[in-house]
Amino acid sequence: MKSLSSVDPEVTKILECESVREASRLQMIASENYVSPAVLEAQGSVFTNKYAEGYPGARYYQGCGPSDQVEQLALERLKTIFGAEHANVQPHSGSSANMAVYFALLNPGDKILGMDLAAGGHLTHGAKVNFSGKLFAAHHYKVDPQTHLIDYGLLDQQARELKPRMIVIGASAYPRILDFKRFRAICDEVGALMLVDIAHIAGLVAGGAHPSPVPFADVVTSTTHKTLRGPRGGFILCRQAYAKKIDSMVFPGIQGGPLMHVIAAKAVAFGENLRPEFKVYAKQIVDNAAALAQGLMNRGFKLVTGGTENHLLLMNLQSESMTGAEAAERLEQAGLVANKNGIPYDPQGPRVTSGVRMGTAALTTRGMKTGEMEQVAGFIEKILRGNNDPERLKGIREEIAALCAKFPVFAY
Ligand code: PLP
Repeated sequence: MKSLSSVDPEVTKILECESVREASRLQMIASENYVSPAVLEAQGSVFTNKYAEGYPGARYYQGCGPSDQVEQLALERLKTIFGAEHANVQPHSGSSANMAVYFALLNPGDKILGMDLAAGGHLTHGAKVNFSGKLFAAHHYKVDPQTHLIDYGLLDQQARELKPRMIVIGASAYPRILDFKRFRAICDEVGALMLVDIAHIAGLVAGGAHPSPVPFADVVTSTTHKTLRGPRGGFILCRQAYAKKIDSMVFPGIQGGPLMHVIAAKAVAFGENLRPEFKVYAKQIVDNAAALAQGLMNRGFKLVTGGTENHLLLMNLQSESMTGAEAAERLEQAGLVANKNGIPYDPQGPRVTSGVRMGTAALTTRGMKTGEMEQVAGFIEKILRGNNDPERLKGIREEIAALCAKFPVFAY
């Protein structure tokens, strides 16, 4: 067999462009990271070839010995990381993990209460445009209009009035620690199931830099590719009582054959998560986010909730007279990749927005520390407060590339 470069120079060239892009820019999309060469290798492995419908020891295909071994290893490692009773590593994504949980534990039309998309929640937590909002009676809790923090007292009241079957906890753009004990008390009061989606903060939880929901939640879902630094995918953790229902909803309920190459890569990433270095990494992500937030606030930028306690921050650009879309575009031209993001109670629509979301997981993987975050804050000021001249932005892009060159990415 021939290698990619000789078989398909066109795709090779595109891959090279992506490598250069990832290595030479400040990658600050809060849901992205750089996986290790070991994870890349496992994902690009011969397991790509294998069908393994079913679960270890109970497959619908022959030849699943190695598949059983690698999935079992992934399961054991994942349960060890989070101290969970039961795990499922087959969900293809965070969205399919959530879908499997809803379909396993709810009936169509049941009431769910999730964080509003506009307050930082995720599409799969009941947004109208998503299956979760179409198939279930989805209601939302918001954040306080002034502080932009979750108002647990108000949530409690809302839950008592609504009596939802499930409360969905977790977010894509909430920069503060979630109080899982408080959520549990609210769920208990109203008899709701407690689902915590830790897609964003999974790596922080794994490394002890954010409290764990596992002792409190009925079910925990996640992606594997954000702060957890694994391949793109999902997983589910649950109490033993829900294990059978959830497993049979993942397969055969909503998925067919598991992606064994991704599961192999998940096993490798979970092995990395268990190493002592990962604890240091998780803490550094949070320290870096705090340093970046401080650097921006020192320069007079406004941040939603006035700072961060996790891996991400949300800039409120209203005082800069700039939309999120304009800022994200200009940042990219200058070599800093982030995304436009609505801020709570945003008067702008989702294509424009008044905010930009930034995360520190990927920069921390490169080895950047708080000193570099101060530099990054300086770059952001220079980019957003200067003019739009392409030559000026190109100059900043070169400065950023020089900083990036000092912190090579694992595999590039
Ligand atoms: N849940 C949360 C909180 C997320 O932030 C995301 C992705 O950003 C998901 C679920 C969905 O993950 P995926 O994109 O893998 O479907």
